[in-house]
Amino acid sequence: MTTAQTPASNVISEARDPVFDELDFPTDPDNLYTQTVAVTLHAAELLDLRHRVRIICAQPKNEIMVHFPVRMDDGHHRLFKGYRVQHNNVLGPYKGGVRFHPEVHLDDVKSLALLMTMKCSLVRVPYGGAKGGVKVNPREHTPDEMQRITRRFASAISPFIGPDYDIPAPDVGTNAQTMAWFADTYMMSQPQSNTQDALRIVTGKPVEFGGSLGREKATGQGVVDVVVEMLPEFNLSIEGMRVSVLGFGNVGSWAARILADMGAKVVAVMDHTGGLRNDEGFDCDALAAHTAKTGGVAGFGQDAGSGSGQNTAQGGQAISEDEFYQTPVDVFIPAALEQMIKHRQAAMMNCKIVAEGANSPCDPSGDRELQRRGIEVLPAILANAGGVTVSYFEWVQNKSCVIWDAEHVDTELNRHMVMAARRTRLARQRFKCDMRTAAFAAALEHIGKTYDVRGIFP
Ligand code: GLU
Repeated sequence: MTTAQTPASNVISEARDPVFDELDFPTDPDNLYTQTVAVTLHAAELLDLRHRVRIICAQPKNEIMVHFPVRMDDGHHRLFKGYRVQHNNVLGPYKGGVRFHPEVHLDDVKSLALLMTMKCSLVRVPYGGAKGGVKVNPREHTPDEMQRITRRFASAISPFIGPDYDIPAPDVGTNAQTMAWFADTYMMSQPQSNTQDALRIVTGKPVEFGGSLGREKATGQGVVDVVVEMLPEFNLSIEGMRVSVLGFGNVGSWAARILADMGAKVVAVMDHTGGLRNDEGFDCDALAAHTAKTGGVAGFGQDAGSGSGQNTAQGGQAISEDEFYQTPVDVFIPAALEQMIKHRQAAMMNCKIVAEGANSPCDPSGDRELQRRGIEVLPAILANAGGVTVSYFEWVQNKSCVIWDAEHVDTELNRHMVMAARRTRLARQRFKCDMRTAAFAAALEHIGKTYDVRGIFP
């Protein structure tokens, strides 16, 4: 099957699903949560899923909001707002990252929590879905302030989470160090609990402190595993394949480095500091090192003794945002924030496949335009599920007091990703729909079957 097929079922049907009115949803079509539920209900309709499962999945089980004061380095106190949304736990403990970002809102966190439920179900890790966040800009704070913010947030939500109940992890703006502070805070507050058990309160920890080998690169590796599994459909091979990457943080930089190691050419990158193009393919390890040092891709090559940095083998030519989207590539990897690909960007993009490294990088108008143009989208709940999959491996290792080697982690990750990709492809054939709807359908079917056998209490 090729990309040019016209899906029988559009990403989001134009008619408003009756469940929205039944649950008194707002009518704002731009609301990220409403959009995510619309995709879910559309897939539920194709599956003819029971009404009770539809209404359960349309709302999170718990929405926790906290406010907490933190002392700044200059002695004054600031009040922060934090969230933990627990969407569903029918398949296992709530699971999902915590993001630190100035634009964190309840509806976004709800949407991301729902995506976690679907992601875990699709890759068959025995978890439900959750997400958390703190409204804060980490770039505006010192490491000491970030440590205090993390510890106060961990302490504020600790009554609502647990190593077998709800397990946070890194997301945008958080990393292994954040998880180490989080776990340490939780362990200090549970002096009676066995240390090894309390360690499982978060995943994505540093390797020195219970983390798993392969977790740091896991989301990027998972994107690559899914792309590789799908390539034969597009008559593409990795060798010489042209790739562009939007966002060069953890997910984007790892996906780029792994693809470049396999022989692909990463020819365009863009982040909040600017865009770069290099038709020979970037040295992605050097670009990642530059980004880690300077905070962004801009200026790459200019600090490496390569003259002006324009069009050099190592650096690249500075390009505008429009030029970035227009660069001809085989695979486009959005690995930045949500909703960046709208109709305007989708209309400019010159690629065969979009592999969603970020959660919800396309808004519905962008999604529709990509579909209209025959560009295949490998949806986030499939393409970026590698992070939570290796989080599950970390949790299993902590629970059973064993340490897996990196090769074992990679092999098991690949197995989960390939099976999830095949499940999605089968659902697409069965329902003659786009890949996003197919991935949701494959995830929801598993959830629906679990509700069937478990029943609804009482
Ligand atoms: N934040 C990542 C995601 O969105 C990982 C979550 C986890 O490891 O629990 O999938």
